[in-house]
Amino acid sequence: MSYKNEKLSEEKVFKDPVHRYIHVRDKVIWDVIGTSEFQRLRRIRQLGTTYLVFHGAEHSRFHHSLGVYEIVRRIIDDGFQGSPEWNNDERLVALCAALLHDLGHGPFSHAFENVFNLDHEDFTQAILLGDTEVHKVLSRVSPDFPQKVADVIGKTYPDKLVVSLISSQIDADRMDYLQRDAYFTGVSYGHFDMERILRVMRPEEEQAVITYSGMHAVEDYIMSRYQMYWQVYFHPVSRSAEVILTKVLHRAKYLNENGYVFKQEPTHFGSFFDGTFLLEDYIALDEGVVTTYFQMWMKEKDPILADLSSRFINRRLFQYAEFDPATEYKKVFELGKLFQEAGLDPEYYLVTDSSSDLPYDFYRQGEENERLPIFLKMPNGELSELSRSSDIVDAISGKRRTDHKVYFPEDLLEAGKEANPLYSKILHMLKG
Ligand code: ZN
Repeated sequence: MSYKNEKLSEEKVFKDPVHRYIHVRDKVIWDVIGTSEFQRLRRIRQLGTTYLVFHGAEHSRFHHSLGVYEIVRRIIDDGFQGSPEWNNDERLVALCAALLHDLGHGPFSHAFENVFNLDHEDFTQAILLGDTEVHKVLSRVSPDFPQKVADVIGKTYPDKLVVSLISSQIDADRMDYLQRDAYFTGVSYGHFDMERILRVMRPEEEQAVITYSGMHAVEDYIMSRYQMYWQVYFHPVSRSAEVILTKVLHRAKYLNENGYVFKQEPTHFGSFFDGTFLLEDYIALDEGVVTTYFQMWMKEKDPILADLSSRFINRRLFQYAEFDPATEYKKVFELGKLFQEAGLDPEYYLVTDSSSDLPYDFYRQGEENERLPIFLKMPNGELSELSRSSDIVDAISGKRRTDHKVYFPEDLLEAGKEANPLYSKILHMLKG
């Protein structure tokens, strides 16, 4: 039997708090899970700094990746198989892409990518195609198999139906993270009837669609996504932690570039500081390594690096105020000057940050970042874009919501305001 079709002599089962069980019968899947690059995902949290707000959010990208795999496996094995629109030769590539779609995420992804100007998707491709254990396993299926998996994840794979299972507005990725993040944060939104959605999902040539009778389950899913974004993913306090984390890395990079001598050489960051971005260095980094450096940097001579590191480790976060860039741009500029006068570097202590999300969008020709809309399969067999049938989805589709905040160390300003009148002036401007 070929490696592609090889089954384990006994099915392996992972116990999972969201899907109850995750089933593995394919030898290839089992071997991929055992690679060091995949095991590394256990050491990267799914929600970055969110655990500093919702203390349950300690779940890792390993959990989520297995969950996405299980959803795609169920869509194919319990739904699509046997249907004329589904080509079962695509099963293994779809399962591998589901399992590996987040493989390139680094520690505290967003902050890390932002500081070093990286893209986790590039690293996913690099790990799949480079000299890695994952690459060796996938190559045993066929020499072009790693590239096929990379193409599904990169959305360039010719079978669009396969791509849509992993990246579309109703894909296995979102269906897993919404439920999983709701479970681990303990919030009551984020839940929806996935069982129902899986039952009403149908394969079509270009993408998976939903039969008309499943419209309400999809509405519920879209609303839960909308609420999770604003209640969990863009929570201002976890953004504050992310701002501080970003600034710690910025400071360390800046100091390194300016000849500062660290008490503890930041060896693990070497190829990020010098811009060579070695794959082996990236794979060696995880959140344990990063927080270990932060612990050591708390004792550095540089006061900014020491203060910011200690803020992150001990959760002394920045306070925030609403800020409208259209009308208050000048105010932030003035504040920046005051910070400077007061001896606080505004680069690190006065930070503006924006979050933005589009809950659902339909296809508008010629627009950039077109999103593949969700289609309902009507009783007469025709496909109809979701917002044309659903008033609820119509009400929020295409509407981008953005919010802007400015972050600052209120504790420090409060503590020093008696001695330093500039501090009270700053506080008054920020909070008044
Ligand atoms: Zn994902």
